[in-house]
Amino acid sequence: MSQTVHQPVLQIEGLSVAVEGKEIIRGLDLTVRGGEVHAVMGPNGTGKSTLAQALMGHPRYEVTGGRVTLDGEDVLEMSVDERARKGLFLAMQYPSEVSGVSTSDFLRSAINARRGEGNEIPLMEFVRKLDRALKALEMPHDMAGRYLNEGFSGGEKKRNEILQMMLLEPKIAILDEVDSGLDIDALKIVAQGVNEMLSERLGVLVITHYQRLLNYIRPHYVHVMMQGRIVKSGGPELAEELEAKGYDWIKEELGIVDEAVGQEA
Ligand code: ADP
Ligand code: MG
Repeated sequence: MSQTVHQPVLQIEGLSVAVEGKEIIRGLDLTVRGGEVHAVMGPNGTGKSTLAQALMGHPRYEVTGGRVTLDGEDVLEMSVDERARKGLFLAMQYPSEVSGVSTSDFLRSAINARRGEGNEIPLMEFVRKLDRALKALEMPHDMAGRYLNEGFSGGEKKRNEILQMMLLEPKIAILDEVDSGLDIDALKIVAQGVNEMLSERLGVLVITHYQRLLNYIRPHYVHVMMQGRIVKSGGPELAEELEAKGYDWIKEELGIVDEAVGQEA
């Protein structure tokens, strides 16, 4: 008998987002399905992190228009907690340090919050999963006992974000510049972690400034963001073209003078 796999769908339609009264995202459309890897690329200051934060529900990012649904349910109506429980996950560009909470306690609470009351993960199963993920990411075992991100190097913080992803098993994972601050070996390990998770059950949105991560996490779709919108989409060859030629040709092609958003003129 074949088992039906639930294939999640994140649908973003006409999304607009303001930060401190300035409109940063301006009518963005994007659909991410389980099994797909979408890369959102673009120069700095074009609104990539704003998109990620708004999807996750960061209170500073005010949605001023559009719709976002996950499996047909209105994401914008949900609290940050609810979004996480429903299977949205964000690996942040700048993870925060949390003193007094060990990484493993944090992970276990997060998993249990996602699974819901009465369905908590048995301790042994948690330990097994944690061990397996730590090994896959080549993270030292004692890292799980340390306070969350406290004193972690940039690379360790990024691995820790992927560790969370592996344990939480989200439906849609948004990875915001996970490659920044990683050397090539760490980059490969992080990519391996993501690739290992990929299935019809997981859709991935990889946000990155550089093409190099995409040598290891192969995107099916590549989108270029400028001025808070997706201005160009293509397949993996678009990322290669950007690697070879930079972003200026896109600006010329589209008549864009300044790709950044929210800057004072
Ligand atoms: P990217 O991730 O593409 O580099 P961001 O989304 O971080 O771009 O930023 C785009 C613009 O949005 C910034 O230039 C800034 O004007 C504004 N912005 C984003 N986040 C904040 C914030 N927390 N506070 C103030 N302005 C912000
Ligand atoms: Mg950013």
